[in-house]
Amino acid sequence: MHRVIHNDLVFYQFETLTGYSEITHGLFTRLGGVSDAPFDTLNVGSTVGDDPVCVRTNRERMILAMSCVEADTRTTWQVHGTDILVARRSDSIHWPPPQADGIITADVGLSLVMRFADCVPLLFFDPARQVVGLCHAGWRGTLLGAGPATIEKMGEIYGCRPQDIMAGIGPSIGPCCYEVGREVTSQAQEALGISDRFVRSPSNGYGKCLDLWAANEHVLRLAGVEHIEVAGICTACNTHEFYSHRAEKGRTGRFGVVLKLKENN
Ligand SMILES: [Zn+2]
Repeated sequence: MHRVIHNDLVFYQFETLTGYSEITHGLFTRLGGVSDAPFDTLNVGSTVGDDPVCVRTNRERMILAMSCVEADTRTTWQVHGTDILVARRSDSIHWPPPQADGIITADVGLSLVMRFADCVPLLFFDPARQVVGLCHAGWRGTLLGAGPATIEKMGEIYGCRPQDIMAGIGPSIGPCCYEVGREVTSQAQEALGISDRFVRSPSNGYGKCLDLWAANEHVLRLAGVEHIEVAGICTACNTHEFYSHRAEKGRTGRFGVVLKLKENN
């Protein structure tokens, strides 16, 4: 991944996606905003208890760094499901936004925005059809197939073929830190098959850890996606740069991820 410093903001970009001049994307960190602890500083989550004025300022900074304005953003109310929103410029904006865990668009200049603090950001770009998609996959979404549902919707609406799509699996809680209980391990084994690729014993030998990166890569490959870049950055190991719901015991903010097709390239 590339680490980009823009004014005071720091964001990451996938190496494969930066090769396409048609798109802009940023996986933002917590750096460069105005929120106080425990939301310090670039929190863009409006439901975590942070001052709404700070959240708005942070969101404006983030969007500006992507050369975008609020009216040209589209987001969802993330609910750990598999519904996918098709974003169109002509649609009026409602608040709260529609419940969905993926957004896709072929409209240039529209920024897709989602919020994260351990769940997995999945970014998709189809250079053949000029379509982008953004998906939020926590353990539930991963096991339900939120990523493949996004790919399927890109095919259904825009005719995208999985083999043309470039995918990125962003910073999220890693297999080093994501200890889960028996309920989750049994559901993971049911959804993914019994394999120590996805559910493993951590180095301390206690409990079981779920590998959301390997699981998402696996389900995307099963869906026919061939080009996948994995960030490999654990949010819980890196709370100096990212928010981690697990590592910060729920008292934390959300970092933003933005993806758009550029107006002029
Ligand atoms: Zn970790």
